[in-house]
Amino acid sequence: MASAARVDLDGNPIKAMTICMIGAGGFIGSHLCEKLMAETPHKVLAVDVYNDKIKHLLEPASLPWAGRIQFHRINIKNDSRLEGLIKMADLTINLAAICTPADYNTRPLDTIYSNFIDALPVVKYCSENNKRLIHFSTCEVYGKTIGSFLPKDSPMRQDPAYFILKEDASPCIFGSIEKQRWSYACAKQLIERLVYAEGAENGLEFTIVRPFNWIGPRMDFIPGIDGPSEGVPRVLACFSNNLLRGEPLKLVDGGQSQRTFVYIKDAIEAVLLMIENPARANGHIFNVGNPNNEVTVRQLAEMMTEVYSKVSGEPALEVPTIDVSSKEFYGEGYDDSDKRIPDMTIINTQLGWNPKTSLWDLLESTLTYQHRTYAEAIKQAISKPIASS
Ligand code: NAD
Ligand code: UDP
Repeated sequence: MASAARVDLDGNPIKAMTICMIGAGGFIGSHLCEKLMAETPHKVLAVDVYNDKIKHLLEPASLPWAGRIQFHRINIKNDSRLEGLIKMADLTINLAAICTPADYNTRPLDTIYSNFIDALPVVKYCSENNKRLIHFSTCEVYGKTIGSFLPKDSPMRQDPAYFILKEDASPCIFGSIEKQRWSYACAKQLIERLVYAEGAENGLEFTIVRPFNWIGPRMDFIPGIDGPSEGVPRVLACFSNNLLRGEPLKLVDGGQSQRTFVYIKDAIEAVLLMIENPARANGHIFNVGNPNNEVTVRQLAEMMTEVYSKVSGEPALEVPTIDVSSKEFYGEGYDDSDKRIPDMTIINTQLGWNPKTSLWDLLESTLTYQHRTYAEAIKQAISKPIASS
């Protein structure tokens, strides 16, 4: 529960604040709301078009934090109530975005609008009203690594200088316009530059967060259960869906791309430190990831298969994965990030944060949740005869 004696990293008492959280009903927002309700005295004005993932925090009125979280069903594209909420708050956190790779090709305009145009009023209202802003960007702003342009057998590929991604030093390397993944990255980069410029010219107090594949319970949706049957969520939910249905996991273009995955609960600790230590967080861009949890997508599939078999008690398929081309899976024009390892120096120096959870452990708790939440519904969906209509 919230304690009265909480202090920041410099030993100063932390005052209760009001936070306007935009995109609070999403994956990261739901975990952040949970943390703020359970462990702090802060109030949250939760803004989103959906609230399914935070319903358990909003009802019933007898919850210990009742009154500290209020849901506002607002589409920030076109709602004049947004400025009022930002004015009421001490801090705004903007998480709202379209951030699913399957959408980058099929909904390129929505992707650019939601990651750039729709965020403009948020930055403007914060700047004009002297309100602090924590803006969620992405590790994709780095784009491809320098190493990816070296010959496959070049020893320089082993040199961290060619692949470690560093906030204040790495270049942002995107592919051509036809490869629309980079429209997402580019929109995120431009809003970062705008937030930075508002800080430089008008004194906006800001922090930019670059998440590196945060994963855990409530990420995205399971197609046909709590999302559209034809929908393609991010890899954790795609692979969970395959495992729950007893289907092989689909490896796009051989599953050779590499990712570092961080447990959502570790990452949320970092965000809480940013919220409660403005003097250390303002003016900074932070990578938030777990450099120790690097795998290829193929290795992720193998590990998830093994962990799921353990937590569900069901034997793994004899052939647990199949290869699929990116064209078949995502459509024309897909491109991928080759490798994403965050440099952790800045977050470590400023906030003393380090991720704790190994990939195996985070998959074990996440897949236990997936199995408990969805296995029965999937069984019923599979056994239901197709409706005659
Ligand atoms: P999410 O899709 O689960 O959450 C985004 C939320 O924003 C959704 O609930 C959505 O309804 C809401 N939203 C979108 N447009 C809106 C609008 N116009 N008005 C009101 N609400 C709107 O995604 P997430 O994983 O929680 O990501 C949150 C942020 O972090 C995004 O900005 C994303 O780009 C960034 N990010 C996340 C990851 C990750 O690993 N999860 C990686 C890189 C970047
Ligand atoms: N991927 C895959 N099979 C799937 C879903 C995704 O091989 O069923 C791959 C995808 O091509 C990418 C990686 O997994 O290389 C991570 O994809 P995700 O959608 O989670 O987001 P990204 O990290 O690319 O932003």
